[in-house]
Amino acid sequence: MSNQTIENKPLRLPEWLQRDVLLNNKSRKVHSLIQEYDLNTVCQSARCPNRNECFSSGTATFMILGNTCTRGCTFCSVPKGKPELPLDSN
Ligand code: SF4
Repeated sequence: MSNQTIENKPLRLPEWLQRDVLLNNKSRKVHSLIQEYDLNTVCQSARCPNRNECFSSGTATFMILGNTCTRGCTFCSVPKGKPELPLDSN
């Protein structure tokens, strides 16, 4: 992927060219559990293209300290910045 930028912003595909991963019945179960328990996963935050495969085998990778990454990798979709919310002990 190119590192080209416009006004120092990384190039992104236009919205109309982006599509979400289609989940099958098995992967929807893991997706529902993640939603039900309000969990943060790198799978969803990074918009990983392997979600259907991993979720359908019962696998997901959690972000246990929140949804924000302190690194600034431009290729990654995980929200970046300084975490501002306190830790959720639950
Ligand atoms: S566990 Fe699977 S879906 Fe989640 S980030 Fe890793 S490869 Fe992607």
